[in-house]
This record gives sequence, structure tokens and C-alpha cells, in this order.
Amino acid sequence: MAGTLRMVLGDQCSEALSSLQDLDPAQDVVLMAEVMAECTYVKHHPKKIVLVLSAMRHFAEALRSRGVKVDYIRLDDPDNTGTLRGELLRAVTRHQPDAIVATAAGEWRLTEDMRHWHEVSGLPTDIRDDDRYLCRIQEFRTWARDRGAFRMEFFYRDMRRRYSILMDDGQPAGGKWNYDPENRKPLPRGMAPPPPPRFEPDAITQDVMALVAQTFPDHFGDVDGFALPVTHEDAKAALGNFVLDRLPLFGDWQDTMKTGESTMYHALVSTSLNTGLLAPLDVCMAAEGAWRAGLAPLNAVEGFVRQILGWREFVRGVYWLKMPEYAELNGLNATRALPGFYWTAATRMNCLHQSIADTKRHAYAHHIQRLMITGNFALLAGLHPDEVEELYLIAFADAYQRVEMPNGRGMALHADGGIMGSKPYASSGAYINRMSDYCRGCAYDVKVAVGEEACPFNALYWYFIARHGERFANNPRMAMPVRTLAKMDPTRVTAIRARAAQFLAKMDAGETV
Ligand SMILES: Cc1cc2nc3c(=O)[nH]c(=O)nc-3n(C[C@H](O)[C@H](O)[C@H](O)COP(=O)(O)OP(=O)(O)OC[C@H]3O[C@@H](n4cnc5c(N)ncnc54)[C@H](O)[C@@H]3O)c2cc1C
Ligand code: SF4
Repeated sequence: MAGTLRMVLGDQCSEALSSLQDLDPAQDVVLMAEVMAECTYVKHHPKKIVLVLSAMRHFAEALRSRGVKVDYIRLDDPDNTGTLRGELLRAVTRHQPDAIVATAAGEWRLTEDMRHWHEVSGLPTDIRDDDRYLCRIQEFRTWARDRGAFRMEFFYRDMRRRYSILMDDGQPAGGKWNYDPENRKPLPRGMAPPPPPRFEPDAITQDVMALVAQTFPDHFGDVDGFALPVTHEDAKAALGNFVLDRLPLFGDWQDTMKTGESTMYHALVSTSLNTGLLAPLDVCMAAEGAWRAGLAPLNAVEGFVRQILGWREFVRGVYWLKMPEYAELNGLNATRALPGFYWTAATRMNCLHQSIADTKRHAYAHHIQRLMITGNFALLAGLHPDEVEELYLIAFADAYQRVEMPNGRGMALHADGGIMGSKPYASSGAYINRMSDYCRGCAYDVKVAVGEEACPFNALYWYFIARHGERFANNPRMAMPVRTLAKMDPTRVTAIRARAAQFLAKMDAGETV
């Protein structure tokens, strides 16, 4: 063969991929390989594996229908070496290409491997930027340079200007950059979000589901009820459904939680964005279009655009700026082992029970369940960031280290010393009670901090402030709880400490808490 071998990874199912741009269908071959190493570097939720393998198989079909030659290696191919590098080298032997072309991997681990492809294959290897993100890694570095503490808000404003999203005559639409003060209300009783759409598995997905169920029976969760989009068409339909059905109320209720409702008013677009089935700019433009057409209010649309154009790009920028050191950070010296209930949902704490059960069932939890329930508890209890991060990487169908790590280690656990957030997202049961109905169905009493039946979040919150008060004493956003604790009756402080210690001892001993 006189052409190039173009390796496409599982989260690169995008026709606009940089490595496919100058593809010559007459000469070039696209290589796609399902490999065991990628399915097992952590024991991913089976629904996540189904998503990626099914999206890959559908993408390969779409390329073939355009006349592209695709060499597709299945997971159960008896000759499959189990690694991307192994499959690349086998394909080089099969096709004898002139060169290798690929788009840079989104993960540090694989990017390091790609650096060696040139020497192990003996071929010129062109690793191209992943320009599906709206801020290139180098651009983020330039932006971050000279900013001691860089904040998402200013990055986001620059991105709005740069892409002219929600801008009118150079000014933010409606005159404000941020409509958060109008958002994030508690959910009124009786209010029920519309059900999200389901994408019933076709024959390709059903084959993958059978393969995954058989191959990974001991992973967290199962394949039953898989209904995520795995094609560009379905991903676009899912986005359209969100824009019409849930976007108008996204802002108002974006921080709320309700028993039995894992989606609430969220978009469910992370799996499609992260596998390449949707492009971030298209998602932002769909939301802006809804506002300009009078179908959704500005507070909702701005709040949503901020997630994609702001947080998603910022988080990825932080990851590449700070790796590999970021993976070692443990700024609050958290050392406690992850309790077993994070895998089983067997806890009397209803907020954790509901959030973990939702996650196990759907391979999804929305942002506030991740941040303010499972993340908040891990922060307060001092769980080791490595263990928490492994859980998050396993549990969610949208999980990739480039986004999971700054969110888990940084935003949720504050282990990065404040890169992702100027203060830790620590809260007592009062926040959870305000934003959810979980406390009403809980064995513990959210109004109480001391005693066997007291909500554990309350004592753990004050115990957290006591442990780290000195560190946060000069942080204006933490000064109030630090002062409140200092003024608290010493007898009460002792009782709260005792309650926290007793609770943690029971939890560490494996008792049901
Ligand atoms: C501890 C923790 C771990 C997380 N791990 C992941 C992960 O592995 N993969 C992942 O894609 N997201 C992760 N997030 C971010 C966020 O929770 C998910 O992107 C979101 O819940 C996905 O659901 P959705 O599409 O319905 O999102 P929506 O709430 O509807 O938001 C729309 C989109 O905005 C983007 N977005 C929103 N918040 C963030 C954020 N903080 N960081 C990056 N992008 C964001 C996502 O692409 C998301 O799809 C994590 C958050 C926390 C607190
Ligand atoms: S009472 Fe405490 S543990 Fe129970 S649901 Fe509320 S916040 Fe969670």
C-alpha cells in the first residue's frame, strides 16, 4: 500500500477529526481497534464500554458508506493483541503504509504511548492536534501564563467573545455575562421533570451488549436498559429533545435533586460530546438558537453555554497544563479508604444511597449528585483522591481522565490546592435538604448534628472545618464558617467531634452507616 494508516480511537468518532481531513479513500486505510487494555485500565461500567464500542462500530459503518477503507478489529478477534500499540503494529505489517496519521489522544496515558509510535513502527508518524475542542492546549497555556490564580469566569468571557456566542454588538446578550443569581432555585414539591429520550439498541448495539455482558461480568453495573445515543443522528436527536423539553428550565433547577429522577433538567450530552458524536460549538449554537427564537430564557441558555464553552474547555485546559503532577496532588492530605457503600449503595444516608444507585443503574449522575453528594461526602470524610478518582472513572459513561481528574481531584476534593475552585465545595446536610427531597426519606435527621440519628454530613462538615480551619482562615469565602466554629460552645464542639469520630470509626469498620 502506498497510502497512510489512520488510527482512530474510541472517543474520536467525528467526521471532522483532524486525522481524517486529508484522507485519500483510494489509498489510505482507517484503523479502528477494540482492545482489552482500554476496556480494563479501570473496570469501567459496562454501559460505558457498550457506548464506546457501539459508537465505534457505527462510525466505522458510516465511514465505509462514504467509500473509506476501514480495518476494524473486534474485541473478540482471536488475534487481537489487546493493546492499541499491538494493533497498530499488526496493521502496519498487514498494510505496509508509507506513514501513520492520528489525532492526539485525550488522555495523558495514551499520548505518552503515541510518542513512541514513530520509533516502534519505523514510519513517519503525524500526531495532529485534537481541534474538536474550542480552545487548543497551546492557546490555554498562553491564556494561563502570567495568571497566578486563573478563574473559569474570565476564560469563559474570552471564549464567548472569541466565538461570538450570546454576544450582541460586542456586549454580552442581555447586558450580563452571568445569570447565576437567577438560577439554582430549590425544586417545588410535586414538580416532575420530563423523561429523557431513550435510544433503543439496534442490532449492532445488541451484539455489543451481549459481548460486554459476557466479557466483563464483574464490573460495576450492567448493560441492561442501555439507551444512550451511539450515532451522530441519535446524538443530534437527543440534543434537540433537550433544547425543546428541558433547556427552558435548565437554569432554574440545575442544582436540584429528586428521588428517582437522575436526569432532572440536564442535557445528557456529555457521552456524545466526549465520544465525538456531537461538536461543542453545535451544542452551544443550538442553545443560543433556542433563546433567539424565544423558546428558552436567557438565564437558562447562558447557564448551559457556560458549562460547555466555559467549564468543559477550562477543565481540559487545566488537565493538560498541570499533568502529570496533577495526578499526584493531595493538598488536604486525605488518606481514608473508600467505604464499600460507594459500590453497593448500601447506606442509610439516603442522599448517597439514591445518587450511587442512580449511577450504578444509568452510568450517570448529574453534576450536583457528583459534586455535592458523593464528592462532598468524600471531601468531608477525607477519602483518598486516588480511590475517589478511580470510582469516578469507572462509574460514569462520560468519564475520561481529562475531565474527570480536574473535577474529581480538583473541584470535588480540593486536592489541587484551589486550582479548580477558590474554596472547597464543602457543605452540611442543610444544603442537601434545600436542594433535594432526599432528607425526607432518610433514616437520619438533617436538622441535628449530634447523636446516633444526626445527619452525618453535619458533624463531618464541622469536623472538616476544624481540621482545615487554619489553612482556610485567610480565605474570604471560608472565613465565616471558620469564625462560627471558633465562637461555638466548646461543649458542643466536643460533642460534634465525638459524633464525627464515632461515625467514621463505624464506617471504617465496614458497619452499615
Ligand atoms: C466529581 C465530578 C466528576 C466528573 N466527571 C466527569 C467526567 O468524567 N466526564 C464528564 O464529561 N464530566 C464530568 N463531570 C462534569 C459534569 O458533572 C458532567 O459533564 C455532567 O454531569 C454530564 O451530564 P450532562 O451532559 O447532562 O450535563 P449538563 O449539566 O447538562 O451540562 C452540559 C455539558 O456541559 C459540560 N460540563 C458541565 N459541567 C462540566 C464540568 N464541571 N466539567 C466539564 N464539563 C462540564 C459537559 O460536557 C456537559 O455534558 C464531573 C463532575 C464532577 C463534580
Ligand atoms: S439527612 Fe443527611 S444523610 Fe440523610 S439525606 Fe439528608 S443530607 Fe443525606
